[in-house]
Amino acid sequence: MKFALLFFGVFMCGIAGIYSFENINVDLLTALTSLQHRGQDAAGVLLFNKKFLLKKGLGLVKDVFNDESILNLNGNVGIGHVRYTTQGENTEESAQPMFINYPIGIGMAHNGNVTNTAELKNILFEKYHYIPKTTNDLELLLYLFTANLNINELTIENIFESVKYVQSIAKGAYSVLTIISDFGMLAFTDNNGIRPLLLGKKEFNSKISYCFSSESSSLDLLNYNVIKNMKGSEIVFIDKNFNIHSTVSEKGKQHFCIFEYIYFSRADSIIFNKSVAAERIKMGKLLANQIKEKNLKIDVIVDVPKSGYFAAVGLSEELNIPHKRALIPNDYIGRSFILPKQSQRESVIKQKFSIIKDVIENKNVALVDDSIVRGTTAKYIVKQLKNYGAKNVYLISAAPPLKFPCFYGINISTKEELIANKFNIEELKNYFGADDVIYQDLKSIKSLLGENFCEACFTGKYQEN
Ligand code: AMP
Repeated sequence: MKFALLFFGVFMCGIAGIYSFENINVDLLTALTSLQHRGQDAAGVLLFNKKFLLKKGLGLVKDVFNDESILNLNGNVGIGHVRYTTQGENTEESAQPMFINYPIGIGMAHNGNVTNTAELKNILFEKYHYIPKTTNDLELLLYLFTANLNINELTIENIFESVKYVQSIAKGAYSVLTIISDFGMLAFTDNNGIRPLLLGKKEFNSKISYCFSSESSSLDLLNYNVIKNMKGSEIVFIDKNFNIHSTVSEKGKQHFCIFEYIYFSRADSIIFNKSVAAERIKMGKLLANQIKEKNLKIDVIVDVPKSGYFAAVGLSEELNIPHKRALIPNDYIGRSFILPKQSQRESVIKQKFSIIKDVIENKNVALVDDSIVRGTTAKYIVKQLKNYGAKNVYLISAAPPLKFPCFYGINISTKEELIANKFNIEELKNYFGADDVIYQDLKSIKSLLGENFCEACFTGKYQEN
């Protein structure tokens, strides 16, 4: 399978959209802040109130909205976006949401990554004479959708037809929120439903509001009840009278990203009726079998903050061995994962964690992380634990070995960079300086979560459109 990612950015993101009878500016910002873990590079909101009102910029939500400017953006309809750039440019212009005023007012934001961008760019140019301005794949979806609308006689049927056209030619992962000016709010997903998108409903004084979000945690926060987890190839439209229209094409499949459960989603989110925190604890419990089989003697279980926490809790419960915090993260250090050079990543990792010596000194330590990607984090922490006097360190990953890059919006880098492709278990022990290295097996995760997942990062089985 070929992916045309060269000219277009790869973005993992969070999106939210509110359709209400009252001003939603502050609620939209609250939703975006609750999605901040999904992207820290850019943030933006687009409201509609007879015209589009946009504010976006580089940085965290609190940096972009560091004054009271949000209060000047008034509207009952709005969408917002937080962005995690993993490739391509991170400029204000390519930040989301985006909108056009002509031939019809349409605003859009998306989460995910379109994989056949070169092909779509050609179609846009040759068929419609459209030229994208930025390297953001959102523009391709925006123009393709618009080009197929019957703007002289806009109907819900026509909107659905246009989305179906986009779904039929745009490959990859995309969960999309759209404002159609003075007409309604539209949401749609790719055929495989890879990225999350939920719809919540709230009633106040017999008046209804709807909120879409990448995660249920934002809906909880704003007191919306989840009424829909969008599936593959689903389309939902909320009209001006607050009626919901929806359809799922027969092409729709359910191949939700398994990494959302492992790492990406916030622990208090609920995806397809499963609590992320509870599933992570269960993943930790599943790891106990391998430790029992190997007869490893463990005195203390230590998590890699923050995402190894729940798996460590599960392992500790199952083995009846104490779980203690030995690694203290420095929250003021930037992200190491995203830096382009290994030397930069290593230098940041060193400042990221400090160690509470007496928790691990002379102990046999099980060190639990949610995943091992390039191995930068694990290599540094194992070494430090040994320097601080740990007797044995068993490195444990709650995810199976990551062997294939993700083209659907998660920053899992090239095949060559992934440590599980470089070494076998004996070599990994040597590389990390660990006394054992244990990975979750994929079968165990599937026994927990089921079969309907995109597991391409573990198996290389990418999704057909
Ligand atoms: P690495 O140091 O390259 O092995 O990456 C593994 C560490 O990064 C683990 O602590 C994970 O919690 C975290 N991690 C895994 N996937 C991602 C991601 N897509 N973005 C940022 N951090 C990640």
